[in-house]
Amino acid sequence: MCHVKFKYPEQACVHPKLLSAINQVCRAYGKDALCTGGYRSLECQKTTARIVLEKNKGSYQLNDGSVYIGTGSSRKCLSAAYGKSNHCFGLAMDMDGWFEALENKELSGYGLIKPLDYEPWHVQLIELTGLSEDRKAAIRDSILKGEAFDMTIREFQALTALNVDGIPGPKTQKKAREVLLVCQKILGNDFKSPQEVIAATQKNPELWLAKLKEVKYFDSFILNIVKKMSGRE
Ligand SMILES: [Zn+2]
Repeated sequence: MCHVKFKYPEQACVHPKLLSAINQVCRAYGKDALCTGGYRSLECQKTTARIVLEKNKGSYQLNDGSVYIGTGSSRKCLSAAYGKSNHCFGLAMDMDGWFEALENKELSGYGLIKPLDYEPWHVQLIELTGLSEDRKAAIRDSILKGEAFDMTIREFQALTALNVDGIPGPKTQKKAREVLLVCQKILGNDFKSPQEVIAATQKNPELWLAKLKEVKYFDSFILNIVKKMSGRE
């Protein structure tokens, strides 16, 4: 199956949705692609800025680490300030070769966008553009920890038609319990008896099934845990 390869494997730590959108494009066009720039650590950014300075005659670097060429209205940013580029948050990928020729009208169907006209290789997710720096930092941390960053409290509140304030108050918690019950049903974790719990969760169910008969209140103990964990108070 066609997919993207990273020129520098240490930069592969990008947002999982971005990666999967890029892979979708690869499959649709039936070609592998090469990513020359993904997640950049600070060290990596410094090296990138140095390379950009060497490659572009007349370019200059500001105190914040950003690299520019030209002045006034024709001034162009060639490399963002240290820590400010979307690459530092795992939210951008620089794509080589055939990917550069793709236009926004072709990419938008995959949820992707090239926000910079003069960087036809720089691709981001439409839904993750224009975020605050705090939000970007939270996303970066969750990517680096290996957690897929799927939904925020705000997104959950918007989805369930609650007041969107980002605070998990009583109404948000109540809604989360309701949704959790449905999720448990969908996932088949909606356990009704201690036997079901043991069969689904234990490596050696026989051992524990026997204990149901031997240990007093063991069955209600198990179902109490299920009740607590499924949010049924
Ligand atoms: Zn880029």
